[in-house]
Amino acid sequence: MSGIEKQLAKNQRNQVQNVAVLGATGSIGQSTLDVLSHLPDRFRVALLSCHQRLDRFQEQCDRFRPKRAIVTGPRNTEVDAWLSGTTGLSGTVGSSETVRGVGAERLIEAIVSDEIDIVVAAIVGCAGLESSLAAASAGKRLGLANKESLVVAGELLITAARSSGAELLPIDSEHSAIFQSIQSGQCKSEVQRIILTASGGPLRKWPVRDLENATVEDALAHPTWNMGRKITVDSATMMNKALEVIEAKWLFDLAPEQITVVIHPQSTIHSMVEFCDGSVIAQLSPPDMRLPIQYALTYPDRVPSPANKIDWREPHQMEWYPVDPERYPALELGFEVARRGGTTGAVLNGANEAAVELFLNRKIRLTEIAKICRSVLDHHDYSPSPTLDELMRLDRWSREEVFRWINIPC
Ligand code: NAD
Ligand code: MG
Repeated sequence: MSGIEKQLAKNQRNQVQNVAVLGATGSIGQSTLDVLSHLPDRFRVALLSCHQRLDRFQEQCDRFRPKRAIVTGPRNTEVDAWLSGTTGLSGTVGSSETVRGVGAERLIEAIVSDEIDIVVAAIVGCAGLESSLAAASAGKRLGLANKESLVVAGELLITAARSSGAELLPIDSEHSAIFQSIQSGQCKSEVQRIILTASGGPLRKWPVRDLENATVEDALAHPTWNMGRKITVDSATMMNKALEVIEAKWLFDLAPEQITVVIHPQSTIHSMVEFCDGSVIAQLSPPDMRLPIQYALTYPDRVPSPANKIDWREPHQMEWYPVDPERYPALELGFEVARRGGTTGAVLNGANEAAVELFLNRKIRLTEIAKICRSVLDHHDYSPSPTLDELMRLDRWSREEVFRWINIPC
């Protein structure tokens, strides 16, 4: 039985689906729990994971009473106290029903077990790859927010999902929009191109020469979306769209030439598909991640959602503009990786994660991020069909290169 057939059979039997939310304390994790809290007849929160923010995590455990709760962050006295239940954070009825665990290995065991039907991958960065791969290999429905999994190891993840029959459903709003719009066509050959929209980020109107002076606060002041810090910096540089070009290539099996990026400052049109007859089908809604998250959970059904709706009585402007490569040099890196494949995604992603961390720690300028990524990409030892071990080695290497760039011991 394919993944979708399994899902339909469960829906018909009205069986409640057990959901794992990985990275529960983050922006997507919290939005996912909000969606799940509105659909108690369809879903049960069975597994939660986090890396830090134990106070928030314990509140989530108390409220949702998952079967298992796993902390993957470094072991310290706070984590030990939480594990043994002696922390002041615990002590309610909910926490006593939950089996607590620590470490990435425990998390993988829990994900692949029969206890879980759906995995929402909301960990940030390459750290989410192992769990995404485990869910895909175990034939789960995988709601993928963690785009870095596809950027680093798209081929391996898609192959794992194909061979197990896992369903890979996008949560990233642009890719959910493409997924929804593409259903207007009958087959892939009808798709001429996809148009990914980008808000342009908080610095869209700054003079290009001033961008090098952008502070962390400037870069984090996103005009339309409220997200985690890493993706918000990626939006300011447009590295986020570069990663999404690679994500789209893998999810929809597209050639890079079939992907166009436009700036749409209102973030209402989440992306579009242009078909061979010239028709363009778009998905619109206010910027609210609860909608694409819910669609990945309930697909192929649509059910009422807590997400904000467009108020059609209000005037609304919709604009789009071409992307200026001088302002956003990171975007071209995404197209290059989409063309070359192989090891390039792991290297670009590793370099970007390290550079964003340095920027957030005020060690480099915002404009250095794309320059550093270009240099690391150009200097790596390219291979067209790497193994997972090779990708992980290059992930580490690219981070070390970034630290070497600014002479910081890593
Ligand atoms: P976030 O920083 O708000 O949350 C990240 C979560 O991952 C937290 O629960 C954290 O504890 C956990 N985590 C951090 N490091 C970890 C590690 N090494 N191992 C395991 N867990 C770890 O991030 P976010 O904004 O929610 O983004 C999560 C993912 O979703 C990213 O891949 C991002 O690109 C993608 N995404 C986010 C949005 C959004 O609106 N926030 C939209 C589209 C896609
Ligand atoms: Mg997106």
